[in-house]
Amino acid sequence: AAKAEGRATVRRFVPEMRTAIEKRAKMLSDARQALNDASVVPFYQPKIDLSTGQLTGFEALLRWHHSAHGLQSPAKIAAAFEDMELSALLTERMVSRVLADMKLWLETGVGFGSVAINGSAADFRRGDFGDRLLEGLHRADIPPSLLELEVTETVFVGQIAEQVERTLKLVSSAGMTVALDDFGTGYASLTHLRQFPVDVIKIDQSFVTQLTGADDDEDAAITRAVISLGQSLGIKCVAEGIETLAQFDQVRRYGCDMGQGFLFSRPLAASRLPALVKSVGAPGYLSGLHPPRLS
Ligand code: C2E
Ligand code: MG
Ligand code: MG
Ligand code: MG
Repeated sequence: AAKAEGRATVRRFVPEMRTAIEKRAKMLSDARQALNDASVVPFYQPKIDLSTGQLTGFEALLRWHHSAHGLQSPAKIAAAFEDMELSALLTERMVSRVLADMKLWLETGVGFGSVAINGSAADFRRGDFGDRLLEGLHRADIPPSLLELEVTETVFVGQIAEQVERTLKLVSSAGMTVALDDFGTGYASLTHLRQFPVDVIKIDQSFVTQLTGADDDEDAAITRAVISLGQSLGIKCVAEGIETLAQFDQVRRYGCDMGQGFLFSRPLAASRLPALVKSVGAPGYLSGLHPPRLS
């Protein structure tokens, strides 16, 4: 009976697997197409100075206008990110879009602070990632200090570690800042903070979105520990994924420097930035915050 059952499971499994593989292949070819169509766009989410309520900058997050399925988030095109070549091309496209947006904002006097982009292992595997970034900044006449590079700890291990170290040192000495993303979820090793030029730690949203205002649970303990680690190393902290006023109050109470999350704003299209820049930090901005309805 067990054998028959096993066979039945296999029979059910195979068509499902085929559908999944076909779906993935379709997504990949769609993603290649998207690169040609210029339908890859950055959305921007603000980062707020938690003590003053002022805007400190934005994170650029990849969105993809799919002709049939509408606006897609990175999770939907995860398959594209697994393809190294495609992933590096996506970053190239993102970076050129981001630099064009920054250039326009500089020319039109939109005080955006700085912009952070996300780099992945695929980007570092090409030895010239740092040079390309600096070249792009130079060509657009943008000071490197206005661009931040976010990396996760996954890029610090394995074959590309040396490449990563060289690249981060290059962009850092040119004036760009480096942020360690999703801190606490990866191969968190404190040596990374010494070995690599890290200016900012981003506390992973999985800790922050769990905060309830209470000080005595694990997420609170971890959040607090990361913030005090940052403080003693002279590294700024950003709490990602702030959704409620209670979470905002809590990370501020712990001395966290900056915050990012749906409470302040969801990621927005570039065209909406000038208006957002005006409203953030304006009188009454902090007291007027309302937790968003989370769908
Ligand atoms: P990340 O870099 O950690 O980006 C933060 C993610 O958290 C974003 O998701 C953002 O929309 C989401 N988020 C922000 N505030 C909140 C909140 O209050 N609550 C919740 N639940 N979520 C919040 P998104 O845009 O879907 O991006 C997911 C991940 O995809 C990013 O995580 C990053 O690892 C990756 N990604 C995004 N854009 C790029 C890119 O251009 N290149 C690369 N290599 N990776 C990217
Ligand atoms: Mg990020
Ligand atoms: Mg993150
Ligand atoms: Mg993340």
